[in-house]
Amino acid sequence: MIKVENIHKYFDQQHVLKGINLSVKKGEVVSILGPSGSGKSTLLRCINFLEQPTSGIVEINGNRIDVESASKADILSLRTSTGMVFQQYNLFKNLTVLQNVMIGLTSVKRIDPIKAKKMSTEILEKVGLEERLNYYPAQLSGGQQQRVGIARALALNPEVLLFDEPTSSLDPELVDEVLTVIKNVANEGNTMLIVTHELHFAREISDHIVLMENGSIIEEGTAKQMFNNPSVERTRKFLSKAM
Ligand code: ADP
Ligand code: MG
Repeated sequence: MIKVENIHKYFDQQHVLKGINLSVKKGEVVSILGPSGSGKSTLLRCINFLEQPTSGIVEINGNRIDVESASKADILSLRTSTGMVFQQYNLFKNLTVLQNVMIGLTSVKRIDPIKAKKMSTEILEKVGLEERLNYYPAQLSGGQQQRVGIARALALNPEVLLFDEPTSSLDPELVDEVLTVIKNVANEGNTMLIVTHELHFAREISDHIVLMENGSIIEEGTAKQMFNNPSVERTRKFLSKAM
């Protein structure tokens, strides 16, 4: 479903991604772990061109794009085939919960408002927000805001969902409600790439785990391999926090 080949990213002289290769099959959940500053967010942002990768190939659903010669149409296609959930929610503060989810459907997908409203309401029910449709983001808890963020990404029905530390801005008591929603989304067969610091969660939910450090993947494997029998000492050390 999604494949990146030899992705490099420089910010000026700083080499932040040093030849990343990664693939996620349809319906798979892949988690990216690693210390802060290792390039995890940059990798997600390069996949949907929120950052322009310096070199490499991004392929989504058979559409192979050489990042150095990507056209506007290529970039648009990557944007529409991915849905991103951000650490800071990034909701429109002047729109209600329902409007935040509807707007992608009416403005990007040109779906008529009556149908968009019905679709958005159904998705908001799925994330447990059916009683908050007409609230504004400021009237919600962080966990509820992030569930709106997830609903908004889901509404566009992307090929791949990208989560960038979706629970890191939340007070600890609000983390579980969001992780539960993400688990439900995974159980529905969605293809997902998740950057997270929640090691227990990653272990439970992931088909495949990737550990990044300093712009490179230092080890990858199934959750079982990575947690029970890592071949790199750094992996054992990093993951031992979750034992
Ligand atoms: P992670 O998500 O693993 O914490 P990031 O991808 O955010 O790591 O950052 C990796 C490195 O790239 C860091 O050294 C960071 O300072 C740098 N970096 C990230 N975004 C930018 C940017 N827009 N401009 C310059 N440097 C950046
Ligand atoms: Mg990050």
